[in-house]
Amino acid sequence: MRTYEKSRAKLAEAKQVLAGGVASTLRGSMKPTPLYAESSSGVIVRDVDGNEYIDYLLAYGPLILGHAHPGFNEKVGRAMAKGISYGLQHNGEIELARRLTEVLPCADKVALSGSGTEAVMLALRLSRAYTGKRKVVRFHGHYHGWSDSIFTSFPSPDMMQKATSAGESSVPPGTKGQSEFSLQDVILLPWNEPETLEATLREHAGDIAAVISEPVMCNSGCILPKPGYLEKMRELTRELGIVLILDEVITGFRLSPGGAHGRFGITPDLVTVGKALGGGIALSAVGGRRDIFELIDSEQVSHLGTLNGNGVATAAGLAVLEELTANGGAVYGTMEDNAIKLAGGIRDLFAKRGIRGVVNQIGPVFHMMFIDEDEVTHFDTFQKRDAAKYAKFAEYMLDEGVLVRPNGLWYISAVHEPSHIEATLAAIDRTFVRLTEG
Ligand code: PLP
Repeated sequence: MRTYEKSRAKLAEAKQVLAGGVASTLRGSMKPTPLYAESSSGVIVRDVDGNEYIDYLLAYGPLILGHAHPGFNEKVGRAMAKGISYGLQHNGEIELARRLTEVLPCADKVALSGSGTEAVMLALRLSRAYTGKRKVVRFHGHYHGWSDSIFTSFPSPDMMQKATSAGESSVPPGTKGQSEFSLQDVILLPWNEPETLEATLREHAGDIAAVISEPVMCNSGCILPKPGYLEKMRELTRELGIVLILDEVITGFRLSPGGAHGRFGITPDLVTVGKALGGGIALSAVGGRRDIFELIDSEQVSHLGTLNGNGVATAAGLAVLEELTANGGAVYGTMEDNAIKLAGGIRDLFAKRGIRGVVNQIGPVFHMMFIDEDEVTHFDTFQKRDAAKYAKFAEYMLDEGVLVRPNGLWYISAVHEPSHIEATLAAIDRTFVRLTEG
């Protein structure tokens, strides 16, 4: 059995000086203890206790090229040697912006920032400035970063009921310390319900600046949009003068070089991307319509950030895009094949061990859940999953040398190989037996 004593000791040490002991609240939930990394390469992470893991956490998404990718490191290292950050303009900004406008179908122009949260903040600000309206429609189970104006907790069913009688803003704040007024302009709706969306947008069109949506509900079950749903969202927002923001911080560069909107053929007015774009370096972007970005060109809308477009971040973005689009983007097929094999293998193991569960997969990302349902196509159903059992599963998987996120979301990188998938399936099978035996 593996031990995690050094990680436990490190956490105790961190708690003396680092708020919460971890640098992002979510990371504190890992059991039996938040792990301390020592080093990594490819798909393997080593912790301070000397344990090695096949990694499917991938730093919560950014490491689409895996750890310490030689080509990426070489390009970023070269950029760093030249100069990290200038506060002046440099060619890397233009090159990255141009490349982004080439790969993201909706982007005439882009703006660069450092995190998904900031990209969403800018997209919301642009939408309000462009429309002259205040309210923003967002959906249950989606996550758009932790800024006060959009961060909500996942609501209870009766809160959802109230919020659905839209316009009534009964949106629960995500954390203590958020002003009671910070979400007053947010309308929270259930996702994948075209009728609810249409009724709300038609009734409140005069007040609604933007609809913001993940194109696939990656943060809650990797739920796909129903056929026609995103098209309906696009049609309605266009007709009613509402900005459509697709938040592709997870799906961007993952479902295709053009993200989910490239894959599905939906053109939002604005898209937010981050995570995979930086390959582990802080980088995000908003892309979209030229006439919306004119608000920044004309300095009517402020877009700020000391480190925006720094030389390391732009080199990282360019390196990721170069790797992902090499050989006609062949790596997308490889990642998806591996994801299909792993997701399908897990479904087979559910059947073999008589365990009720669902795996929702698209491209190189999937959500695995223990749930007594045949399918999960709505947030309400997703809420019925056995989250505690999954957290136990994730904990036991560490003993097997497999690192997975405690909430069920798995990422496949460009450097996972069939042998990793096979080893992981064998580990899952043993873990299912351990779980069943208690
Ligand atoms: N939007 C989506 C869809 C996300 O999943 C996330 C993070 O998980 C964010 C925005 C926020 O990104 P960041 O954590 O880089 O601020």
